[in-house]
Amino acid sequence: MANRRHSARRVKKLRTYNVREAAKATGATPGTVRQWAKNGLEAVEGVYPTIYRGVDIIAFLKRRDEGRKQPCGSGRMYCLRCKAPKTPAFGEAEFWADGIKLGTLKGLCPDCAGIMNRRSSVAKLNAAAGDLKVSMRCADSRLSGTPEPNSNPHSKRG
Ligand SMILES: [Zn+2]
Repeated sequence: MANRRHSARRVKKLRTYNVREAAKATGATPGTVRQWAKNGLEAVEGVYPTIYRGVDIIAFLKRRDEGRKQPCGSGRMYCLRCKAPKTPAFGEAEFWADGIKLGTLKGLCPDCAGIMNRRSSVAKLNAAAGDLKVSMRCADSRLSGTPEPNSNPHSKRG
């Protein structure tokens, strides 16, 4: 049920819908429609039983779909402290690989200076990082075959 796609295609702007009609028109269940109401779908004021304007249902589903497609957008990360997606400070991020395929983009929140993380696959790194300047890091020293964290080539010769 969670994966079922709800569509506003059959909702008519100028009609009003009660909960059951709204559910039928969008392919959702009445319970889901009531959940939408809690999440910001506006009902027509002062009317009982509750009815919704088609135009409000369409706007609500559109907002929700847009929010889902790209939770942060490329080049942005979610700051848990600010509870908002942000472009990291200085437009810079680090990518810490924790395997061949997966890793975490890390950046500094420009507002609270907290560390923001964004999981990404190596394949989708470019899309996730967008215009950010990304430094590649290796979090798992096993991959480099040595436990020595200092891999600076300019350090003194052994
Ligand atoms: Zn923040």
